[in-house]
Amino acid sequence: MAKQTYKKRVNNNRKPNNREFTPRDNGEKVEAITYTDGITVSELAAKIKKNSSDIIKLLFMLGKMMTINSPLDDENVELVCMEYGITATKEEARDDESLADDVVDNPEDLVERAPIVTIMGHVDHGKTTLLDTIRKTNVTAGEFGGITQHIGAYQVEVDGKRVTFLDTPGHEAFTAMRARGASVTDISIIVVAADDGVMPQTREAIDHSKAAGVPIIIAVNKMDKPGATSDKIKSDLAALDLMPEEWGGDTIYCECSAKTGMGVENILETILVVSEVRDLKANPNKLATGTVVEAKLDKGRGPVCTLLVQNGSLKHGDSIVVGSCYGKVRRMTNDKGEELKVASPSMPVEVIGLNEVPVAGDNFKAFESDKDARAIAAARNRTKIEKERRQTSAMSLDDLSAQIAAGDIQEVPVIVKSDVQGTAEAVASSLSKIDVDGVKVNIIRSAAGSISESDVILASVSHAVIYGFNVRPDANVRKKAQEENVEIRLHNIIYKAVEEMEAAMKGMLAPVYEEVVIGQAEVRKTYKVSKIGTIAGTMVTEGKLVRESKCRLIRDGIVIYTGKLGSLKRFENDAKEVLSGYECGLTIENFNDIKEGDIVEAYADQEVKVD
Ligand code: GDP
Repeated sequence: MAKQTYKKRVNNNRKPNNREFTPRDNGEKVEAITYTDGITVSELAAKIKKNSSDIIKLLFMLGKMMTINSPLDDENVELVCMEYGITATKEEARDDESLADDVVDNPEDLVERAPIVTIMGHVDHGKTTLLDTIRKTNVTAGEFGGITQHIGAYQVEVDGKRVTFLDTPGHEAFTAMRARGASVTDISIIVVAADDGVMPQTREAIDHSKAAGVPIIIAVNKMDKPGATSDKIKSDLAALDLMPEEWGGDTIYCECSAKTGMGVENILETILVVSEVRDLKANPNKLATGTVVEAKLDKGRGPVCTLLVQNGSLKHGDSIVVGSCYGKVRRMTNDKGEELKVASPSMPVEVIGLNEVPVAGDNFKAFESDKDARAIAAARNRTKIEKERRQTSAMSLDDLSAQIAAGDIQEVPVIVKSDVQGTAEAVASSLSKIDVDGVKVNIIRSAAGSISESDVILASVSHAVIYGFNVRPDANVRKKAQEENVEIRLHNIIYKAVEEMEAAMKGMLAPVYEEVVIGQAEVRKTYKVSKIGTIAGTMVTEGKLVRESKCRLIRDGIVIYTGKLGSLKRFENDAKEVLSGYECGLTIENFNDIKEGDIVEAYADQEVKVD
């Protein structure tokens, strides 16, 4: 079946991704339409009552390759409509501000919500231990069955009331979120170890909390240690404007031991008292708004993010825009791994169903319809690219060579993409430290997610090099990169990337070895054979596969395994190579976890001549 369709497509000389579709052209004449950003070929076809295939053909004749799901830009919508004599008017989508909660709540709709608490303080003062102790000792009855999941935030119950804790200790996360405009925390707990006292990061944490206008509770920790006292800490902090209540001030100090659990209950009760004064409320009966706490690209599940609902309720099936990503809430689980249908204010939930990986600190909002969500995400994406473009326009290669000629400082713009944000940040930070005779690396984007066309476009306009870690561009992205002359470097070891970049910068960006992709095949079926392992039935979609060549296995854009091709068979016979358009069976040496839909990529290292 698959083979048949493939042949048919080839005969029709169409792009392999095009699907067959039902004709909609019923002769009805449409004179004018309105559309929003991100309208796809099939949506436009429905509006103008034409066949999607005709629109695709028309665009193809104009040199534009589209599928029915391709979003169209204004120019293409105009072109198509002009062809049919239809007037197209664009409805402006709401702009960047549109993820803010813009519904004014009636006081009678508001109900109490759980306070959201961040724990900060100097390294080794006991933040992680305190977070763990609180979590372990305050699991509600009936919740014992749940297996705790680290999703970046959790909720506990104290005296029948809920309290939400952000599970990333330290002020770095807090600051990063604040830098993105997110104000999530209602109360901050600053942990100070009794045996170490007020330290630099204690002061930093206090400054950050004060700057954000968040009330502070001081937890004097490690009180179980012999001779521990809180007096010195109190007097040091009183000098920083945190006068203890018992000395006539208004700062609450709680003595505790995160290790033994002593005083931890008192901290929780203090949180309830402080939050009561703050009168924290939200309206659960409206579409949700909130903030991303954590986000990553999961090998099996795709983009996964933890959202903290700040107002409204998030429901299963809701259409959401998160930063500049969009999707539907396909599955929602809490910090105990339990599936939820509804998440109310102050609840952290792990959500699956987004098209890309957002960034921690991004805002999110639920919308009535899928179409609204997509249009707003498209508009936000464009604004984001524009913004990045403006920021980077000062470092085009032209400028760079002018600077080189003038002997000024030079910069190499780089985009980093990785499977997890932590790695992307680590790579970005290592690359930024390179300094070759005053030439530096300038990171213009670093994010979790596979390498996308938007990355290539950004790289193209800013003359940047793309670095991919444990991620691979798919065939479309690679083509685009070739067209745009964008260099994509792929690595899985940070120091190797750094070495390569340093060498390239010294030798004016001339790498010695370059990896060439020989071909790609899609896994259509797998068979387990004892003694041999997993045999994958594949269709070579590009180039060719060569026996015993180097290969990697890619699943959802992520490299799962790098190794060597084992046997390669056409029907019963061993084959030396199999060309694009043919099916073949293959094995990967020492690797059996091959699944349907995986991509097997064969590659070789090719020497590049250095002048
Ligand atoms: P963080 O860097 O602030 O997250 O600190 P950790 O929670 O990792 O704690 C650092 C060290 O202090 C660990 O060895 C803990 O076991 C220890 N620790 C944490 N809280 C206490 C406490 O209340 N009493 C004692 N004696 N040790 C503690």
